[in-house]
Amino acid sequence: MKAIKKILLPTDFSETAQNAFRYCLQVADIYQAEIELLHVIYPEYQAMDIPVMAAKAMQDKVEAAKEVIREFVDLGITQVQATRQLRSVPNIHSEIMIGNPVAVIKDIAKRDNADLIVMGTREKHNALDKTFGSVTTGVIEHAPCPVWVIPGEANYEDIDIIAYATELNESEPYHIWKATQVLEPFHPLLHCVHVGNGASTDAKMADIELFFTQNAPALQVNFHNEKGASVTDVLEEFAENHDVDVIVMYAPHHSFWQRIFQQSITKTMALQTRIPILFYKTEEN
Ligand code: ATP
Ligand code: MN
Repeated sequence: MKAIKKILLPTDFSETAQNAFRYCLQVADIYQAEIELLHVIYPEYQAMDIPVMAAKAMQDKVEAAKEVIREFVDLGITQVQATRQLRSVPNIHSEIMIGNPVAVIKDIAKRDNADLIVMGTREKHNALDKTFGSVTTGVIEHAPCPVWVIPGEANYEDIDIIAYATELNESEPYHIWKATQVLEPFHPLLHCVHVGNGASTDAKMADIELFFTQNAPALQVNFHNEKGASVTDVLEEFAENHDVDVIVMYAPHHSFWQRIFQQSITKTMALQTRIPILFYKTEEN
């Protein structure tokens, strides 16, 4: 598998993005990866009589953003180093672009062959608006690589225990296998968790378990079939009881992802949890 060597960190300069950057610095240190920071400025469409003035205004914004991104980087590094020793400060460069944030983040991830995107979730929630922010949602959907979403309340802790939320479909052993490769540098214990009451569930789970015993005997993996009506509630409880550091979900593109997302399993997860979620994707979709 391709090692994680380049991490893209989109920032809107919010406190949640700052937290995601602190997390990212520590993850990058484990992978020995470089970090590319990206801030996207929305273009302004209001009529400007004098085009040269509009260009000047935009240039001023870009210059201001360059200054802010420098402060953002310095603050993040200072904060991390206050509590934790990094093996080395990762190589960091910054980019300011103008455009639609989701489209630009996707394009830059492709252009620069990002292996991973780390980003925050939205800052404030209210009862009427139980979703990720629009940028997070769009990036998960369109990114060409895995997206690691860090809630504002999540602190980085050593990544020892992973919960993989599984649907138990046929290609699942492959997805689990790919996801464990991404997380391999952390040498985690992996719990595969399925929530459901289907009659065939135990047999399917036994098949996957057999696959791993035969093909990856060194991998520490446990299988859990949890019963409950609400997937999110069960996963939450599981994560708490098992000291889970990261939840992993397979997030294919297109209609499949839309459907899962509309069912709001992943949406509500991110809302309730303080635990980072790694949305894993395979190259071929
Ligand atoms: P919304 O914008 O939908 O009102 P929000 O601002 O609370 O919601 P998002 O915009 O999804 O939530 O922000 C979540 C994360 O997305 C941020 O932490 C940051 O990583 C990234 N992000 C958001 N806007 C930008 C931007 N303009 N440039 C780069 N990254 C961004
Ligand atoms: Mn936003």
